[in-house]
Amino acid sequence: MSIALHGMGVSRGIAIGKVHIVEHNQLEITEYPIDEAQLEVEVRRFETAIALTRQQLRAIRDHIPAATAGDIAAFMDTHLLMLEDSALTQEPKRLICELKCNAEWALKLQRDALVNVFDEMDDPYLRTRKDDVDHVVHRIQRILLKQTPLRHEVPDSRLNGYIVLADDLAPADTVLMQHHGIVAFATEYGGPTSHTAILARSLGIASIVGLHQARRYIRDDDVVILDGTEGVVIVDPDDRTQSHYRKRQKQEKRSYALLIKLKEAPAVTHDGVTIELQANVELPKDFAAVHKVGATGVGLYRTEFLYMNREAPPDEDEHLRAYVDVLKALNGLPVTIRTLDLGADKQVDGGGRQAGPVPSNPALGLRAIRLCLKEPSLFRPQLRAIIRASSMGSVRMMIPMLSNIQEMSQVMEMIESIRDELHETHIEFDPHMPIGAMIEVPAAAICADVFANELDFLSIGTNDLIQYTMAIDRVSDEVNYLYDPLHPAVLRLIHMTLEAGQKAKIPVAMCGEMAGDTRYTRLLLGLGLREFSVHPAVLLEIKQIIMASRVNELTYLAKKALKSRSGIDTAELMQHINQRTH
Ligand code: PEP
Ligand code: MG
Repeated sequence: MSIALHGMGVSRGIAIGKVHIVEHNQLEITEYPIDEAQLEVEVRRFETAIALTRQQLRAIRDHIPAATAGDIAAFMDTHLLMLEDSALTQEPKRLICELKCNAEWALKLQRDALVNVFDEMDDPYLRTRKDDVDHVVHRIQRILLKQTPLRHEVPDSRLNGYIVLADDLAPADTVLMQHHGIVAFATEYGGPTSHTAILARSLGIASIVGLHQARRYIRDDDVVILDGTEGVVIVDPDDRTQSHYRKRQKQEKRSYALLIKLKEAPAVTHDGVTIELQANVELPKDFAAVHKVGATGVGLYRTEFLYMNREAPPDEDEHLRAYVDVLKALNGLPVTIRTLDLGADKQVDGGGRQAGPVPSNPALGLRAIRLCLKEPSLFRPQLRAIIRASSMGSVRMMIPMLSNIQEMSQVMEMIESIRDELHETHIEFDPHMPIGAMIEVPAAAICADVFANELDFLSIGTNDLIQYTMAIDRVSDEVNYLYDPLHPAVLRLIHMTLEAGQKAKIPVAMCGEMAGDTRYTRLLLGLGLREFSVHPAVLLEIKQIIMASRVNELTYLAKKALKSRSGIDTAELMQHINQRTH
């Protein structure tokens, strides 16, 4: 009898094949004492394990196929870089000597300390970076414990066409899988923003994460269907189910081939309205994807990564180098650099960690521009670097989390004084660099006209706008049922912001997740949105919907949505509209 298991689809596509289960046999790490006289030997044993780990990772990196080298090499480099970091290479040695304990135990203690730091982060993307620590530590531990390599690490053509099932997988595993011709994978743990999931998307391997307890129901060599789009695995499917999925497989391949063809096509609606489609970027490695999907620029470049995993904040030169690299990578396309959005529960050492107790409402606390204005020594170097970068390419500066116009005036004062300084010291900058605000606090949306009259552009951050409008913490599982982009209050705030932009004749973009959700594209067009900034992975799908839409029909829908009683009513209305194609 066939059964279906549900997880979270993180990389689209359908695969049908036999299963190969990867058992990362749980490493049993125990503590044992080391005699004073043997401590040096234990430290050397640790150093040898680090050197061997480095060798293994380099060997994997050197075998990455050229066609997929960019992203994957960057992931492998991240892991290799960790092996240069004193947190992993020196601190365990100190612990071995101080606690007089074995290397495995010292490494485990250090791993736990590092993972705790990541667990405290608010940003789900950064929280999952602890997976990287685990993957590297796991590899060192296996070497220390003299474990044999896992089967999928040994070249084996018999795995060709297989679907891998594991508790968790490291990016290095994913790369190796591609060598073996593995067509899909599912893991019991992991999130959609883990490196492994991101890699799977860039490799085009169908995959599912969070397939809890799957190994209780699936055995080696069972035949399964893995649907990475829906997040479903069907175990032991009958002939009818198989032929249904084979048909879908063909359809998906056809529609992907069509989507890629849209890369060069202008994003123009069926009735001739041109839409700007830009990309959101979190890390320097994402810039390759911007070109791959034909984005017309970067509408949101989050800069928080610059402050992570370090003791002191980056200085002006480091900021500047980062922005110059961005401009080079973009090769003439414009970039909107968002100033740092740290603080409250998004504490990082490099962001000037606040002393004292964590506030009880961190989302409402000292965050983003509030922190920047309180700590000018943190903010100024970034401002100076962005202003200087403006002379080297097409740069816009965007300020997050503004609640009132005085905050913006304070920022403008700082910008003016920096411009004076630069002018006096003959350092170049573009005096016309556009400066804009993120509209993500309801107070700012309601007063969007005030901001629009004083700024060059606005960008709606729906992730926060919805959190604050609905009075829910966006990271809380218990209240996320209230996280509703279609709530009339949210739609009205978006509409007010768009109208304010139109009146002041300045562009208004949307860079929150709502802009990248295909269910809302038509509604947003109807509300008047003309600039979307979305994750590169969804950009072409959004373009496809735009090209098949008529704005003049959607304006009517949007008016109805603005008057609707609830998000549920609007969802029903949209289902109907979304089905229509032109
Ligand atoms: C938003 O709030 O919608 C946004 C884009 O910013 P972030 O998700 O970084 O808070
Ligand atoms: Mg935000």
